[in-house]
Amino acid sequence: MARKARKKAMTQMRRKEREIKEREDILHVLDTCKVIRIAMHDEEGIYILPLNFGYTYKGDEIVFYLHVALKGKKLDLLKANPKVGFEMDCEHGLIEGDDACEYSYRFASLVGEGTAQIVETPREKMKALSILMKCQTGKDFEFNEKKVSSVAVIKITTEEVTGKQRK
Ligand SMILES: Cc1cc2nc3c(=O)[nH]c(=O)nc-3n(C[C@H](O)[C@H](O)[C@H](O)COP(=O)(O)OP(=O)(O)OC[C@H]3O[C@@H](n4cnc5c(N)ncnc54)[C@H](O)[C@@H]3O)c2cc1C
Repeated sequence: MARKARKKAMTQMRRKEREIKEREDILHVLDTCKVIRIAMHDEEGIYILPLNFGYTYKGDEIVFYLHVALKGKKLDLLKANPKVGFEMDCEHGLIEGDDACEYSYRFASLVGEGTAQIVETPREKMKALSILMKCQTGKDFEFNEKKVSSVAVIKITTEEVTGKQRK
């Protein structure tokens, strides 16, 4: 069995009724969550960080944009190994019961994998930061070369995304 097919077979969701399949429901999670957690490969294990994000969603491909400082551990790790995992969640709520075992928790979440790339050109950085600010604030902002020179921008192209919700 090819690696991708084998991996898919191994990662089928157990609670099928909770799987988010519709594009509009995935969009709802993307629009509601303001923080994404990115897991990176560290020589000693995994390094995971919460970050704000912007996204585009064309066809079946979600692309995330992150803005970060020009130096730091995550940039070093991503340069060494651009493969990442990610997670985001929202719609939290306690579901109460009479007994502890009847309690549950509402949520909607996305989990997946992708490849990170440092955005180099000022033009693409400006575009990415406008997308990020629109997603975070709902407002349109414009950037110039001077402003974008003070931050690094990471683009994550997703390869696999699954969504799950507990209503
Ligand atoms: C809700 C939220 C949103 C955020 N949004 C952004 C964002 O959009 N852009 C951005 O650049 N940063 C954001 N941060 C901060 C981010 O999580 C990192 O702290 C930051 O990016 C620095 O990462 P670094 O790898 O460069 O750390 P470095 O400054 O290189 O430090 C590495 C060391 O600090 C520790 N460390 C780093 N970050 C954290 C952390 N968050 N909590 C605990 N320990 C930590 C690590 O374990 C490691 O030992 C956000 C944090 C939160 C909680």
